[in-house]
Amino acid sequence: MNALSSAAVPCVCCGQALCAGLEEWHWVCPLCGYEAAQLAPAINEARSHEKVDEAQRDTGLKALREANFHQLLDRMARHITPAGARLLDVGAAHGWFVKAAADRGFTVLGLEPDHAVCEQAQRSGVPVREGFFPDVLAAHEQFDAIVFNDVFEHIPHSDALLAQCIARLAPGGLLVLNLPSSRGVFYRASKLLHRFGAGAFFDRLWQKGMPSPHLHYFHARNLTQLSARHGLTLIDSAHLASVHLDGLYARIAYVKSGLRWLAPLIWLAIVAAYPLVRWGAPSDIDVVIFRRNGGQAASLAH
Ligand SMILES: [Zn+2]
Repeated sequence: MNALSSAAVPCVCCGQALCAGLEEWHWVCPLCGYEAAQLAPAINEARSHEKVDEAQRDTGLKALREANFHQLLDRMARHITPAGARLLDVGAAHGWFVKAAADRGFTVLGLEPDHAVCEQAQRSGVPVREGFFPDVLAAHEQFDAIVFNDVFEHIPHSDALLAQCIARLAPGGLLVLNLPSSRGVFYRASKLLHRFGAGAFFDRLWQKGMPSPHLHYFHARNLTQLSARHGLTLIDSAHLASVHLDGLYARIAYVKSGLRWLAPLIWLAIVAAYPLVRWGAPSDIDVVIFRRNGGQAASLAH
């Protein structure tokens, strides 16, 4: 874990000392707006699956994720020719993105550390390998695109992670991050509610108390600053929908205990705010596409 409780921990994006945030586990950078959380992950711990109703989670997320994955692949196609390009999906979960990318012509591999989820993906015929990035890759394995869908914000040391990505990206290869934005309207609303004494939505967005909580909230600009130090250049950014009303209630209610009684209230607040999102309020999901400096791989589009 990050030693955020010690004094003057520098921001991973800009180096400024982090300041205390809204909870004792929450830290913010006063200069670039990066936010960090000191929340402990519990992947593969015996009881972690008891906290989440997997079936309800599937129903809640699948429609939204699949629509977003198609948009993401459309966006990637502006910068890379899928046919023959090697794509790695880190934290592939049930393998939905791996399958969608394979359908576009990519040569695909997913990595998934959760044993039960990985087995389920493998049973459905998706090429997913069990384990953490980059530990379970062979020494020679390199990719033309590495994708993190709702994963980058769960991994503790972003600097070390980007260095590992560079080591696994072919020259000119793409790093694609699909992740929550600290500038999104729902995240901002959760901070406002917290200031009025209602911290449950804020805790929920950080996934506090769940098997794999969020450890970071970035936005496209401070991520670009962080990535530039690793020889990555921003070539595209976009927003994806964070909410579809189909399956929304199931998505909110998939935590089995604790905040479950709040689910109807959170659902009502989101439905009330939904028109704002449709009318152009900042989205809660950013997609940023970086290119590794140092020439173009043969399979990349010009
Ligand atoms: Zn900063």
